[in-house]
Amino acid sequence: MRVSDVICQIVRGDLDAAVVAQEDEVIAFLDHRPVFKGHVLVAPTRHVETLLTLPSNLMVPLLTMAQRVALAISAALGAQGTFVAINNVVSQSIPHLHIHVVPRTKGDGLRGFFWPRTRYSAGEIEKYAQMISEALPEPSPPDSSQLAPHLTGRGEPDPGRDS
Ligand SMILES: [Zn+2]
Repeated sequence: MRVSDVICQIVRGDLDAAVVAQEDEVIAFLDHRPVFKGHVLVAPTRHVETLLTLPSNLMVPLLTMAQRVALAISAALGAQGTFVAINNVVSQSIPHLHIHVVPRTKGDGLRGFFWPRTRYSAGEIEKYAQMISEALPEPSPPDSSQLAPHLTGRGEPDPGRDS
């Protein structure tokens, strides 16, 4: 299976991108329609659809790159901070896991992430904590994509093996 999303195409060299860093397991490149200039996407080079199916052996390389990029954005652009985020399915424009690292500076006017807030009624917050706590899956073993097809809702073979 040959996966043809934008990130897989960039990894293969089939599509031009402003690459910031590329290693065996991770690539970092500029989002061509940035929230702010310097907005980087960090992604595994192997096709992984969402955070929910990310093998644990790729977590450290991926987050390490996001950390390095965030440090680099501050150093290179003078950003005071960064916004680091992952969309899963909803608002995920590319069906290949990517971490947004967006430069932030106080007073930059970013409003896209000001979500409406709500309040819990008395005792409700403990109920939510308990429901979520009881539903927590066991920690995944390395390369969980081979072992946990239920996480994808499908019994298909690993979509990352695309060649
Ligand atoms: Zn892909």
